[in-house]
Amino acid sequence: MSVTTPALLPSFLSGSWTNPSDAAQDGVAELRDASTGAVVGLMPKASADLASAFEYARTAGRDSLGDLTFHERALRLKALAQHLTANKDRLYELSAKTGATRIDSMVDVDGGIGVLFTMASKGRRELPNATVIPDGPTEVLSKDGSFIGEHVYSRIPGVAVQINAFNFPVWGMLEKLAPAFLAGVPTIAKPATPSSYLAVECVKIMDESGLLPEGSLQIVAGGARDILEHIDYRDMVSFTGSAGTAAKLRTEALARNARFTSEADSLNAAILGRDVEEGSAEFSAFVRAVVTEMTVKAGQKCTAIRRVIVPHAMVEPVQKAVAARIAEKTVVGDPRTEGTTMGALVSEDQLRDVREAVSRLEAAGGRNVLDPLPVPEGGAFMSPVLLVWEDAEATELHEVEAFGPVTSVLGYETDDDAVRLAARGAGSLVATVCTADPKTAARLTLGIAGHHGRVHILNAETARSSTGHGSPVPHLVHGGPGRAGGGEELGGIRSVKHHMQRSAIQGSPNMLTAVTGQWHRGAERRISGEPEFGGSPELEHPFRKSLAELEIGDAFVSALRTVRREDIQAFAEETGDTFYAHTNEEAAAANPFFPGIVAHGYLLVSWAAGLFVSPEPGPVLANYGLENLRFITPVAAGDSIRVELTAKRITPRETDEYGEVAWDALLVNQDGETVATYDVLTLVAKTR
Ligand code: NDP
Repeated sequence: MSVTTPALLPSFLSGSWTNPSDAAQDGVAELRDASTGAVVGLMPKASADLASAFEYARTAGRDSLGDLTFHERALRLKALAQHLTANKDRLYELSAKTGATRIDSMVDVDGGIGVLFTMASKGRRELPNATVIPDGPTEVLSKDGSFIGEHVYSRIPGVAVQINAFNFPVWGMLEKLAPAFLAGVPTIAKPATPSSYLAVECVKIMDESGLLPEGSLQIVAGGARDILEHIDYRDMVSFTGSAGTAAKLRTEALARNARFTSEADSLNAAILGRDVEEGSAEFSAFVRAVVTEMTVKAGQKCTAIRRVIVPHAMVEPVQKAVAARIAEKTVVGDPRTEGTTMGALVSEDQLRDVREAVSRLEAAGGRNVLDPLPVPEGGAFMSPVLLVWEDAEATELHEVEAFGPVTSVLGYETDDDAVRLAARGAGSLVATVCTADPKTAARLTLGIAGHHGRVHILNAETARSSTGHGSPVPHLVHGGPGRAGGGEELGGIRSVKHHMQRSAIQGSPNMLTAVTGQWHRGAERRISGEPEFGGSPELEHPFRKSLAELEIGDAFVSALRTVRREDIQAFAEETGDTFYAHTNEEAAAANPFFPGIVAHGYLLVSWAAGLFVSPEPGPVLANYGLENLRFITPVAAGDSIRVELTAKRITPRETDEYGEVAWDALLVNQDGETVATYDVLTLVAKTR
C-alpha cells in the first residue's frame, strides 16, 4: 500500500504500525511534493512511544537477531534486498516527490539496495558462520603456552539508533541498517522530516516481506526530539545531517556514554593537477565530475564538490567548460517531466537556506558566472550557481556550505598551495585529485589524505570506470575527520565491527577455544594416527568425517618421513627449482640461514599432504588453498619431518551441501622443532 495523500505517516514501533495517541493535539507537519507543493503526507510532531520501542529492541530485537549467525543474517539481508528490488517502483514513485530525478532515485534506491547485497555477500565471504569475530593472532602470555590472549568482537549490547538526513532517505537508512543487522544489533531509524514518507515506505516493504526478524528494525515518523533520552552506554547513535545538529546530539549522546558517529556537511574539494591541459582526457573528466556533482540530486549531497581548486591559468578554461556543459546538458524541472535532468531541492525551506548561503558567498567575493537556466514556476527549483573567486583565501569560501547546485572555483600556484587550500575545509568527506602524472597524484593525495575520509584519483584510465567522486561505495569507508563529523561508516566488514565491542579475552587454550568456537594450539584434541606421537588407532581419521560429525579439535598425527639428498635433487630437477640452496653445497653453506643444502619448502608441504591425507573417496571434497604459510626451521638431508593436522575452524555454508574446514597444519622435525605452520583450507560435505 502506498502512502495516500494526505495521510498521517505511521511509525513502525514495537511490532506494529502506529501513530502517537496525541498526534492531533500536538499538530502535524505537512510534507510537500518538492516540485508541485502538493501535500504528500502529514507527519505527527509528537513523539511516539519510544520508551516501549527501545525496550522492544532490547528484548525481542536482540533475541531474534541473536538467534542467527552472521551467515544467516547475511542471507536475510540478501533476501530483503531481492524483495526491495521487486518492489522498487513504489519507492521510485515517492522518490520523485522529493524532487529526485530517475538517476537521483537510482543513487538513493538502487544504491541503498546495493549496500544490502554487497554487505550480504561480504558477510558470508569474510565473516565466520558464528556470532563472534576473533581479531588478530593469539598472543602467548606464558612460557608454557597455558595462558594466552586474543581479541574478540561481540555485538554491542544495545540498540543502533540512526538519525538520517533528508537527501538520501533510502540509502542513508539501508547503509546504516546493513552493518548493524549483520552485527546482530537492532535498529531504530529516525528519518528526516521532508522525505520521511519514502523511508517509511521502504520499511513497509521490508515488513511486508516477513523477512525482518522481530524487532530488528523500527522506524519513528515524528519529531522524536526525545529519542536520545532513551539511550545509554550500550547503544550506538549514527547521525547524518548538519554540523550544528551533530554537535548538539553528540554532546547528548556522550553525556549518556553512548557511542556516537556522525557524518556532517563538508566542503569537499576537487583539485586539478598542474600537468592537465585544456582539451585533454583529464580536463574533460574533471569538468564532467564537477557538473555531475553540482546537478545530481540538485547538489544536495554531503559528498558534492563545493570547491574546485585549479591552477590559476585554468580558472577561466574550467569555468567556461563547466558553464558550457551546464548550458548544454542541464534542464531543471519536475523530475516526472520528460527531459528533466535536474530536479527540485527537497523543500522551500531548503531552497531558502541555499539562497541565503549563496548570498553570503557572494558578499564575501564569489561571483556567479552562470547564466540562469529557465526554472518552472512554484516548487523548490534553483538554477545552478558557479562562483569564481579572486581571493582564494576568503574565509567564507572554505566555511559556508550551500547545500544545493552550487560550487566555487579558485586558483592555486603550487601543489603545496593546493593541499593547503583543500585542507582549509577543516576535514572533509572526499576530494578528487585529477592528474595524469603519478608523482603529482601521490604528492597531492598524501598531502590531503589526513584531512579527508576518501580521496578519488581521476585520470584518463578511470574516466569511464570510476564510480564517481560523490558516490560512497559499501566496500570503502564513508566519513571524514573534523567538520565532516569525525565518523566512519561502511568500509566493508569494518562497519560491522563498529557495532561490536572488541574485548581482550585471556585464558587457557581450552577456554579460548570454547569462547571463539575456533581451536587454539594447546587445547584438547581427539587424535587419530601414529601412536608414537599420541595418535589413537581406534579413532577415525578426521577426513572420514562429514561436516555434521567433525568437531574442532579432531586431529591426525603422521609418522616421520626422512628427507634424503636424492629427494631434494629429484624435486629440483622435476620442478626446475634449482635455486642454489637446494643444489649447491658450498653456496648453500655460505648462506647465513642454511646449514648446507636444504629441502625446498614446497617439497615439505607436498610431503605433508602425502603424510596427512586419507586418500579414499569420502566427505572431503576439495583443498582450496593454504593460508599463513611460514617456513621456520630449515630441513637438511638426513632430517625427518612429520605433520599434525587439527580441525581448527568449521564453517557450514547455509545454502550449500558442504562447508569450509580450516585445518591447523604443523610440520615438525625429528627433534620436535617446528618446521612450518599453515592452515589447509578444504571443502567438506555435510553428510557422508
Ligand atoms: P539537520 O541536521 O537539521 O537534521 C538531520 C536529522 O536530524 C533529521 O532527521 C532531523 O529530524 C534530526 N534532528 C534534528 N534535530 C534533532 C534533535 N534535536 N533530536 C533528534 N533528531 C534531530 O539537517 P537537515 O536534514 O535539515 O539538513 C540541513 C543541512 O544539513 C543541509 O542544508 C546540509 O548543510 C546538511 N546536510 C548534510 C548532510 C550530510 O550527509 N553530511 C546531508 C543532509 C544535510 P527532522 O528532519 O525531523 O528535523
